[in-house]
Amino acid sequence: MFSKNSARRSGNQVQASQSIAARWSARSLRVRLMFWYGGLLLPGLSCFAFLMLVLASNAINGNVQSAISSVARVAMVNLHRSLSPEPPYWPGQLTPETLDNYTSPGITVEVFDQDNTLLYSSDAQSSLGLDSATHRELAQSTEPIWYRANVDGAQALVEVSPIYPPGQKGAASKLKSGMIGVLLVSKSLHDVNATLALLQELLVLTGSLMLVLFLGCGWAVVGYTLRPLSDLVRMASAIASDAAHGKRVSHLSQRVRRPGGRDEMSQVVDAFNEMLNSIESSTAVQRRFIADASHELRAPLTTIQGNLAFLIRYVEDIPPVERHTMLADAHGETLRLASLVDELLLLARADASMGQLANTVKPAPIVELDRTLLSLVRQMRRRLEMEGTAVKIEIGQIEPVRVRGDEENMRRVMVILLENAIKYTRPDEDRDAGKITVALLREDQQAVLRVSDTGIGIESKDLPHIFERFYRADLARSREGTGLGLAIARTLVEQLNGTIAAESVPGEGSTFCVSLPLV
Ligand code: ADP
Repeated sequence: MFSKNSARRSGNQVQASQSIAARWSARSLRVRLMFWYGGLLLPGLSCFAFLMLVLASNAINGNVQSAISSVARVAMVNLHRSLSPEPPYWPGQLTPETLDNYTSPGITVEVFDQDNTLLYSSDAQSSLGLDSATHRELAQSTEPIWYRANVDGAQALVEVSPIYPPGQKGAASKLKSGMIGVLLVSKSLHDVNATLALLQELLVLTGSLMLVLFLGCGWAVVGYTLRPLSDLVRMASAIASDAAHGKRVSHLSQRVRRPGGRDEMSQVVDAFNEMLNSIESSTAVQRRFIADASHELRAPLTTIQGNLAFLIRYVEDIPPVERHTMLADAHGETLRLASLVDELLLLARADASMGQLANTVKPAPIVELDRTLLSLVRQMRRRLEMEGTAVKIEIGQIEPVRVRGDEENMRRVMVILLENAIKYTRPDEDRDAGKITVALLREDQQAVLRVSDTGIGIESKDLPHIFERFYRADLARSREGTGLGLAIARTLVEQLNGTIAAESVPGEGSTFCVSLPLV
């Protein structure tokens, strides 16, 4: 008891861990996809933010630079106006009014003479001053120099321009006369840097929000897209676990819900559902077959059992003739039982070899079908003669035909068709003797065997079912039979890559047609 319970518990645990694994495998794909998505999104958003920052910084710095330049140009023009034409050029004092008109808010203007002495500063609080290296560099060029300096802990952008004596035009004459002072215009970058820092923070914040938003949406979309896959995994594992525990596979009747559209996911779901359809129908066929086989085997056994039991009990009291009849019946039923078991065995072997044949690469031997058919017809005729049956077998058009396959199996198919034709043509009391015609032709690269009879025929409602295992038409029930012959014939013909079909007019006769690929 204990061991049974613990086995069941461990079985449940295995099932639970399998379903967790299945769920995780679906989710892990989701996680992996999200990693890819995030991995692509993050650099994309970072590049975008970086580009925005660079463009904004360039634009702001450009504005600052042009503001400084324009102030410097105006200041230079005004300075030249206040210089005297002769050395020492500088007026006694550079009046603030001369320059203040041109200063912009935040911009500082300073003037130094050639000895680097500050002559004027628009901002009395702070002075940038000019180092001697920059001074020297400036003396060698007529163009302004730009640099960044630190003023009272804040960064500033500075433009330094050389001042030449009035009236000097052209770089050569300017250099020759030498500079008489320096004009220094600067603007604090405090506001610019603060704006850029704010922009940076905003970009990081919105970028992170967008990343979270995109990832959230992506997670939901991927989950929705992969849902059929996890349904499919769940159902497949439920079926597998039912089968593993020997339970009736109840999940076979369920189907995975199909997502809309015709994308790969719907195709996977369609293929899975189609597979379930065919498994379900073949399981149903198998169940029906087992039920039919048991029923067919049970019927003769019941007769044998009944007759023997009766005989054992009343053997002394039964008249000899009746005793003989009962024994003969029992014997007939054992023969029927034996032939049924033979046919079942044949069908099982044919089914088994069907799977094996699919894996065989070796070509099958060649069979001369016309010779096999003619020798069989000869044998059948002899048998009919011996039995005194009035049915005639006629040979129609026979062409030399060679096909690949097992000769014994082909012979068996012909025997089934001919025996059926004889059986269902053999006259009842009120019918004339019938005729069977066999023909073998080459048609469209196929060997076509036709067996026609003038027998009882098959009703159209029965025609689609006669190749099913154990199916017998009502018209045929008066004659001996198991309902397995045509099922065996179809399995053997399909093994040879051929087809079998039937046409019939009830009361007039039937034609069975087997097509096999020619060599
Ligand atoms: P059975 O043992 O009943 O003959 P088969 O599988 O050979 O089983 O045939 C299935 C059914 O097909 C028969 O029961 C009969 O109804 C029908 N059938 C087969 N061959 C013929 C035929 N030549 N003429 C009429 N009916 C036929």
